[in-house]
Amino acid sequence: MKEASKHYDVVVIGGALTGSSTALLLRRWNPTARILVVEKTSKFDKKVGEATTELSSFFLSHVLRLHELLAREHLHKMGLRFWFGDGSERSLAECSEVSSELIPSLPSYQLDRSRLDQSLLDMCQAEGTEVLRPAKVKKFEQEWPKSRLTIEGEDGELEVTARWVVDASGKRCWLGRKLGVIERFDDHPTAASWSRWRGVTSLDSQEVLGRDVREESALHYIPASRRLCTNHFMGHGWWCWVIPLVDGETSIGLVRDRRLFEMPREGAKHERYESFLRSCDGLGDLLKGAQLDTDDFRSYEHLAYRSTQYMDRGWALVGDAAAFIDPFYSPGLDHCAISSFATANLIDKDLKQALDEPGLDSAIAAHNARFTRSYPRYFEALYKDKYELFGDAELSAVAFYLDTAMYYLGVVHGPQVDVEELAEPPFGRNILPARMAFRLMKLTNRRLVHIARKRQSRGTYGKRNLGWRCMTDNFGRGRRKISPAHWKGLGLWAKVELGEVWEKLSRAGGRT
Ligand SMILES: Cc1cc2nc3c(=O)[nH]c(=O)nc-3n(C[C@H](O)[C@H](O)[C@H](O)COP(=O)(O)OP(=O)(O)OC[C@H]3O[C@@H](n4cnc5c(N)ncnc54)[C@H](O)[C@@H]3O)c2cc1C
Repeated sequence: MKEASKHYDVVVIGGALTGSSTALLLRRWNPTARILVVEKTSKFDKKVGEATTELSSFFLSHVLRLHELLAREHLHKMGLRFWFGDGSERSLAECSEVSSELIPSLPSYQLDRSRLDQSLLDMCQAEGTEVLRPAKVKKFEQEWPKSRLTIEGEDGELEVTARWVVDASGKRCWLGRKLGVIERFDDHPTAASWSRWRGVTSLDSQEVLGRDVREESALHYIPASRRLCTNHFMGHGWWCWVIPLVDGETSIGLVRDRRLFEMPREGAKHERYESFLRSCDGLGDLLKGAQLDTDDFRSYEHLAYRSTQYMDRGWALVGDAAAFIDPFYSPGLDHCAISSFATANLIDKDLKQALDEPGLDSAIAAHNARFTRSYPRYFEALYKDKYELFGDAELSAVAFYLDTAMYYLGVVHGPQVDVEELAEPPFGRNILPARMAFRLMKLTNRRLVHIARKRQSRGTYGKRNLGWRCMTDNFGRGRRKISPAHWKGLGLWAKVELGEVWEKLSRAGGRT
């Protein structure tokens, strides 16, 4: 039976991380705002989006004030670590290792997402947001300033009106699809399969490091925990993430570029995923006594999509409901943080009547321009054909150090100095420094991909993948200066280029 309609300032569709965060920000900034969060599920299940970066951690710990909760209920992350082999089921000790040695100076976390999403939704409720759960938004009729929504809950259908409707429904993109603003991004044909595992051997254990500390260990001593890193096992056209979780499980996923890498053909999907992981250089060692949770196995055949518009009067898209590119470097929660902060900022101004109608329209136009500009630039600067590098330790190391150093410089640093910078998607502003950073990174990426292709055709690709350790001490605090990682990346790049010149000369010498 339909109830009489109730009016809200904001209705948020989806009460997971992005939806709850947006509702929390809006209520904290405007304690009289009437906000409703509608969440479809009665219980959050396990999901990806477990590894945070320094930016998404800044959002969670500082902006949402979750420092204590994160320290208590989740794991501290120790940065990124990469392992390379030659595809012959090598032991971990034979693989090369690329990372930093020290404990990172900025915090980041390995999250139990179902737990964190629940904490955030509980916080929303405790701080005065209404929550309807389990309930599903079924219909949206746009009308400024009073759109109409039909919600299906446990007690039947309910009609409400709202000044703003924020879609945080994740990859379902409930509102964006209805409005026809979501498009599949075919320039980046990646797929992913993942599951949680039990009994994965720890990278910090006796089994890996040896029983007797007086004897030489297979892996040299570093002060940071290797297990707490997001460990990556790499190959041409694919990479695997290994993320430790607080309850002892390990999240392991395989992401591949469908143009470059095909899964084994025999067996069900989860069997092919499992047999491939067990055969991976280095990773196979860690999985010897481990069991895969087959009920938790998930896979997506296509990951990348975007929206042509993020917002208009009365509606907005945030987090995965707006766009997703690629999980490599974990930018997903960065996008959730940035889009949530930017959207809440704009809606807050409207609710406080800080903008007249032309002012609101121009703020919305600027918001759309920044987010839609950021996506293709982010893709070209970081991900275009990037999977061609992943089987070559040297080229991947150059990319890793330079990308990460640029990330600290251009993305992590800004919001620490002025939190309003969190509303700016990377490369979104049409200003000289953003354009220059974009061009520089695009050029670097293109050059490395070009060298990877040349190495493939010469048969020298991945030739230095065994027994090689490459570490920098730290990534700095995100201050605007060249970091040790920058120097490391530039030094390695120079070596790679010299190698190319040497190759050319020796070939020319061979011909004459
Ligand atoms: C393979 C893979 C690996 C990833 N790894 C990482 C990583 O390590 N680090 C990282 O930062 N990011 C990662 N990401 C990205 C990350 O998972 C997402 O960016 C993040 O989980 C999105 O959160 P969200 O709150 O926007 O959406 P979701 O977490 O998907 O939440 C959407 C919510 O909306 C609800 N909902 C849906 N439809 C309706 C409706 N009609 N009515 C009401 N409620 C509805 C759902 O029940 C759900 O609770 C990864 C992504 C992929 C694909």
